[in-house]
Amino acid sequence: MVIIMLGAPASGKGSVAEILSNEFKIPAISSGDIFRKYISNGSEIGKKANEYMTKGELVPDDLTVELISSRLKEDDVKNGLILDGFPRTVNQAKVLDEMLAREGKKIDIVVNLETPEEEILERITTRRICTNSDCKAIYNILLHPPKVENVCDKCGSPLYQRDDDKLEKAKNRLKVYYKETAPVADYYKNTGVLYSTVLSKSVNRMKDEVAKDVIEYLRNK
Ligand code: ADP
Ligand code: ZN
Repeated sequence: MVIIMLGAPASGKGSVAEILSNEFKIPAISSGDIFRKYISNGSEIGKKANEYMTKGELVPDDLTVELISSRLKEDDVKNGLILDGFPRTVNQAKVLDEMLAREGKKIDIVVNLETPEEEILERITTRRICTNSDCKAIYNILLHPPKVENVCDKCGSPLYQRDDDKLEKAKNRLKVYYKETAPVADYYKNTGVLYSTVLSKSVNRMKDEVAKDVIEYLRNK
C-alpha cells in the first residue's frame, strides 16, 4: 500500500500518518524528519538543506529527490509506505511516479488535508515536538496539549518548538505552500486517487475522525 499525505504545514499530516502507520503496519516517512536528521548529524547534506529550511523555503528538488529515493530503497518499505511531506512540488510528484513505477508500486491514495487558511498559522505556531529523536511525538498547546506543560506524555522528554514554526518563518512557509504545493493536489485530480478531506477545529473534525474515514475508504476500495 502506498499512501501520500498532502496538506499545509502543521495541517496534521504527520499525526494522521502515524495513525495510518499503526493501522496498516507500514512506515511513515517524513521528508522533514529526514532533513532534520541530517542536520543534527552535522553532515554537509544537512547544512545545505538547513540553508533553505531556516528561511522557510523548499529544499531544491535534486537534493530532496536523492534522499527520498535512497530511503525508498530500504527494506522496510517492501509492504508499503506512507509519505508525509513528499511530494511538495509538481516536479517531485512526477519523479515519484517514475520511482514507484520502477519498483512496481503505485499510489493507493493521496490524502489531501484541507485546513482553513486562518487555522493554519495558529496550528504552526502552537505546535510542539518531543526532543527525543526516537519519539518525536507531536503536540499542540491549544488543540492537543501534553498532560504536563512542555513534557512528552509518551516518554517524559522535554518538548520544543521548531525554529521554522515561529511566526515569521511560518508565514513564508505558508506562502510557499500555496505557490508550490497546492498545485500538487491538482496534479493528482485526474488519477482517481485523490482523497480531499477537511481537517478543521471549526467543524470539530480532527486527526482521529480523518484517519478513521481514510481507513474505512481504503478497506472498502
Ligand atoms: P511540516 O510538518 O510543517 O509540513 P516538514 O517537517 O514536512 O514541515 O518540512 C520542514 C521543511 O523541510 C520545509 O519547510 C522545507 O524547507 C523542507 N522540506 C520538507 N519536505 C520537503 C520537500 N518534499 N521538498 C522540499 N523541501 C522540503
Ligand atoms: Zn516523547
